[in-house]
Amino acid sequence: MIACPSCASEAVRKLRVIHEAGTTYYESESDNVGVSIGMSGNPRIYTGIGSSEGVRQSKLAHRFAPPDEPLKPSNGCLWGCGIHVFAVLLGGILYKILTVIAPEKTPGHKVGLGIIIVLYIVALGFIQSRKDGGQKAAYEDALRRYHRAREEWEKSWCCSKCGEVFVVTE
Ligand SMILES: [Zn+2]
Repeated sequence: MIACPSCASEAVRKLRVIHEAGTTYYESESDNVGVSIGMSGNPRIYTGIGSSEGVRQSKLAHRFAPPDEPLKPSNGCLWGCGIHVFAVLLGGILYKILTVIAPEKTPGHKVGLGIIIVLYIVALGFIQSRKDGGQKAAYEDALRRYHRAREEWEKSWCCSKCGEVFVVTE
């Protein structure tokens, strides 16, 4: 039998059990007209007799909720493609300025433009890939911490007599 390390009481429960016992998923009838925001975050308009559903949680259940899973970093591709388009435009503009301020030093139109565009794509692509790499590493780090916290949560118990929270390793 597991007992509280603080007061030796055996009235102890797993955090998971406390959390699950205090969390109810409900569905209720309503005859209102309005807009409700569901779990998905999408507004839903209801009229007449409708039903609503959601999660109701006691304070205790909320307190002993499992750790939140970290959010995956958003896909860097869209942002990366956007930055490349921007780079090409900027390269073109810079080349145009060069032909105006120093026309005698400007290499052949197409060659010069090509060089500037390639340089910008390489430089900004490099910056972008480093940024994505940093985000990925941060996410993996957060995921590792989450798994550790989750494991600890699974092994955690709470004493209903003195409120002590403790980890039981078997
Ligand atoms: Zn206790």
